[in-house]
Formats: sequence, C-alpha cells, structure tokens
Amino acid sequence: MKSLAGALLLLLAAQDPEPRQPPPDPFVVKVSDMVRARIASIVSQASGSKVKFEDALARAAKLDEEILAESAQKLGLSPDEVREAWKKREKKPRKTGFGDGSWIVLGGQDGGLDSDVKGTPVQDTTDLVGGGPSILTRRKKPPPPEPVPLGKPLKTKDEWWATSTSTERAAYVESEWVRKSSLVEMKEETKKCPTCSGKGTVAIKRGGIGLTAVCSRCHGAKDDVLLAWD
Ligand SMILES: [Zn+2]
Repeated sequence: MKSLAGALLLLLAAQDPEPRQPPPDPFVVKVSDMVRARIASIVSQASGSKVKFEDALARAAKLDEEILAESAQKLGLSPDEVREAWKKREKKPRKTGFGDGSWIVLGGQDGGLDSDVKGTPVQDTTDLVGGGPSILTRRKKPPPPEPVPLGKPLKTKDEWWATSTSTERAAYVESEWVRKSSLVEMKEETKKCPTCSGKGTVAIKRGGIGLTAVCSRCHGAKDDVLLAWD
C-alpha cells in the first residue's frame, strides 16, 4: 500500500509541479518592478538626514501619486496604465513597522519629563564606607534642602526623528505611506514594547529614590506597530 501511495504522489508531482500558474505577463512584471524601485527610491529620499520630520510626513501622504507619476514617466505610460498593471502584480509580501517611533503614531508622550516626582536625592551609600575623599565629598556637597525634580526629559517627535538612523527613518516613512496607500494591501498588528514589556512605565531608582517613570522607548504607548504589505 505504501509503495502504491508513493508512486501515485510521484506521478502527480511529475504531472503538475506548479499547479495552473499562468506565466507572468512581461508588461505587468516590468511595471511592478518599476513601481517597487520607485517606492524604495522615494522612501529613501523622504527619510534623508536633512529632511525635517513634518516634510517627511507630508511627502508620505502624497507618495501614491509620486510613485505612479515617476513610474509612468520612466515607462512612457500614463499613471492610470501603471496603476492598472500594478493591480495585476505578483504579490511579494514585505514587513515593516514604526519601530521605536511607534509612540508617535500611538499618541505617546511628546517630550516633557518622564516623571513628576520630586525628591531630595540620597547620597551614594558608598560614601559611608570609609575613605578620605568620600568624607570630603560629603562635607563639600550636602544634600540640597529643597526637593528637586527627578524626571528626565523624553524626546520630542522632532528629536526622535533627528536621532534615528536612516534605516529607522525609512521604515517610519514606508509605514506611514503603507497605512494610507490605495496601491497596496496591508495588515497591521502590535507587539509589546520590549523595554517595559508593554506596561508603558518602568520602576527605577534615581538619587536613591524609587519611582515610576514613563518608558523612554514607547513613551507610555506600550506597543510597537508592525505592518505587513504587498
Ligand atoms: Zn515601553
């Protein structure tokens, strides 16, 4: 029985290795290759180090038109002809996401301090363990009598953009475009921020005082936004 089933499988495999796939239309392949190349090129331009964040977002919002227009021009077609051919493309799934800039689209805290807690920092306990210089240090710098803010600044959107790598900025622009594009289909999902395990806050000690601070990675937004598109 086993050998008979095996022989049948072999026969089937030999007859129909790629079941009923029509050969790709060379015109569609040419257009979709061009469109993919234009997407990569425009996303890269829009996320350059000299581009301001707001300008990158404005460009992402118009990316569909720009992709169609550039592809059409290079192929000697109309934008509508490009759009129609692109609809018949062979799908090539791609993954992207907002990464550690996800807080910006999720409404995380934009700048400001990560904690409102004020306190009088406790001197480092190592000062108490003998040694001349540490005693001098303690005498020179007595603890301030007034409580001081213990919060540390979180990045603003513009600071996030300016301090991100070109890869991170490109992924952000691509994601921004994918979310609104009429050219592609996309699926969106979230993943817990790895720094705070999806809590949005972290328990830390500053100046010897325990406090709860807004997570410096997700800015309280708790999640990363991941996108799959094709
Ligand atoms: Zn977090």
